[in-house]
Amino acid sequence: MELTGWVKNYEWGKTGISSAVAQLAMANDPDFILNDNESYAEMWMGTHFCGVSIVKETGETLDRAIKLQLPYLFKVLSVKKALSIQVHPNKCEAERLHKERPTIYKDDNHKPEMCIALTPFLALVGFQPIDDIIDNIDEFQPLSKLIGKELVHQLHQKRDSECLKNCYEILMKSDETKIAACLKEIATNYKKELESNELLSVFTKINEDFPGDVGVLSLFFLNLVRMQPGQAIFLGANEIHAYLDGECVECMACSDNVIRAGLTPKYKDVEQLIASVIYDGKPARCKLFIPYRIDDFVQVFAPPVNDFAVMHVAIRHTVDKYKLEIKAYGSIMLTLTGVRIVKLNTKDGPKEITVSRGSIVYIPVEAAPEIEFLHGEDCGDDFSAYIATYNYFRLA
Ligand SMILES: [Zn+2]
Repeated sequence: MELTGWVKNYEWGKTGISSAVAQLAMANDPDFILNDNESYAEMWMGTHFCGVSIVKETGETLDRAIKLQLPYLFKVLSVKKALSIQVHPNKCEAERLHKERPTIYKDDNHKPEMCIALTPFLALVGFQPIDDIIDNIDEFQPLSKLIGKELVHQLHQKRDSECLKNCYEILMKSDETKIAACLKEIATNYKKELESNELLSVFTKINEDFPGDVGVLSLFFLNLVRMQPGQAIFLGANEIHAYLDGECVECMACSDNVIRAGLTPKYKDVEQLIASVIYDGKPARCKLFIPYRIDDFVQVFAPPVNDFAVMHVAIRHTVDKYKLEIKAYGSIMLTLTGVRIVKLNTKDGPKEITVSRGSIVYIPVEAAPEIEFLHGEDCGDDFSAYIATYNYFRLA
């Protein structure tokens, strides 16, 4: 089944044709009307009720066509302006938050997520090692002043996650005018220090995008992770993060559950974020998620949760035929580059579909144990596609 994804026009997305989301939506659907001034932030592929995919041939929603809810949600993100600083609750907390405050927490599911960069991608992920945070607080005196002598002293003495929590909490709950003054002082008088910490451009950008927002100060607490295309991060429950810039594919448990606390005009739940976050400082290099290779053509990103895994299929133009082994779970494949004829079994018998940039194909359970990628007449380029599926690799 060929699908059309659901495009989300959040204001942080890249605008017009510069957005990969818009490019893919146009390639997928000739009737898609591009507006140069509109932001195209996300494309959703799956059965989530906030943006269910449509079956091209029949116009039916995917969940009705396959009569089931997929455990994962697959997306493309195109980030121009930072997304909020956030965590996703674990399953248990998600159920409680949804029960207590259903209008804010609309979903009762957890939301571990995997982000795989399509372009150079910048994100804040988890706390820095405590020694590095102390160095930052010492170096940027306005920050130290805002936290207060006593807590800074305690952090120096004990260097533990409880003191870190206290410092971060006082910061996140500080008076808005004091935060704005602190940011202004750093922006004006600490250019050299920002530069030598490789923070100047990112500080300037998010301080301009979110003037006076406490989230900007998180740069001194959280790891700045710079990913190259193909590199990934995995965000488990209560790992604090914010995507800052770039384009990626993202896969997650089927949920939209977010606790936000900065860099956002949306509802902030600082109290809940402070309570939920893991205050375990680790270096940025530990935050990259390393995939493994099945063969020359396929890499697997299999996180430590059952809800989802992502395969990256990359077939060189010189290869005529490739057989990919799959298990009997419904999967979704998004093609990014190249053209291939995909041969697969469906409940109506064998089928051949030509896929190219922007094609989204639902691979049914009947397709197992393998699908074939064939080289047609016009299939000159290297082929690249991502497949989201249930994490059966974890059970293997
Ligand atoms: Zn997130």
